[in-house]
Amino acid sequence: MSQPEIFRTIAEMRAAVARWRGQGEKIALIPTMGALHAGHLSLAEFARAKGFGRTVYSIFVNPTQFAANEDFGAYPRTFAADVDKLASIGADGCFAPPPEEIYPAGFSTKVIPGGPALAGLEDKFRPDHFAGVAQVVAKLLNQAQADGACFGEKDFQQLAVIRQMARDLDIPTQIFGVPIKREADGLAMSSRNVYLSAEERGQAVLLSQVLSETAEAIRAGKDVSALCAAAAQKIEAGGFALDYFEARHAESLAPVAALADGPVRLLVAARLGRTRLIDNMAV
Ligand code: AMP
Repeated sequence: MSQPEIFRTIAEMRAAVARWRGQGEKIALIPTMGALHAGHLSLAEFARAKGFGRTVYSIFVNPTQFAANEDFGAYPRTFAADVDKLASIGADGCFAPPPEEIYPAGFSTKVIPGGPALAGLEDKFRPDHFAGVAQVVAKLLNQAQADGACFGEKDFQQLAVIRQMARDLDIPTQIFGVPIKREADGLAMSSRNVYLSAEERGQAVLLSQVLSETAEAIRAGKDVSALCAAAAQKIEAGGFALDYFEARHAESLAPVAALADGPVRLLVAARLGRTRLIDNMAV
């Protein structure tokens, strides 16, 4: 089991990327906030299948994408276990910078994403979130200078925001979206699932169940808005505080009224106790 090279500075990461490129390899960057699980690890598997010979994970809990009332301080930080997991899958690099490497004194540039960042989904409940995401992802892509970068469909709106940003800012790294990895019962894997109590963990499966039965009913031709309203009710009846349950166009994220307006994607966000969960599914 070979250990990933740990980079603490941009310069160290760039030197390794340049060395691998010189050896004729293609490099994929996989940005994360750590607390790695099998969903994160599936991103490297995807990259390999796409022909990327080298994978670099970044692990950075980015303060600028958390609001003051969110879980920045409590976010799980499990660096040693993360490195073991990266070793077990043969990841080549792990960029784990200290905060001042990303935001040195005097740092003052913001990235304000539009388009899919204003779709009225996550942005409605986390108004500054995508500005923080776009800021750090723009930096990570420029820092790594990788050929490709992989992002999970788990964060579906985030993926759309990053694709749009990379296109708009002429960032040459190719952006890939990777299917959601789920637990055996269907719960989407997430670093935040560790916050769930045993009872909440039992309830949490409802999100993916309602997504899949709603997707099936839409495919069967039933009314989209009536189904979304019924889905919202089921989720609230299951003990969640619902933020949204919506049917959107899978690329533009614009609202859709019917299957024919698609491809349709169902997206949900709901809170169970102190844990906010998001999930989504193709119709
Ligand atoms: P995070 O550490 O939560 O910022 O996630 C880092 C990357 O892993 C993002 O691109 C996520 O969308 C992706 N990711 C997180 N959970 C999953 C999952 N269950 N399946 C696939 N990708 C995931």
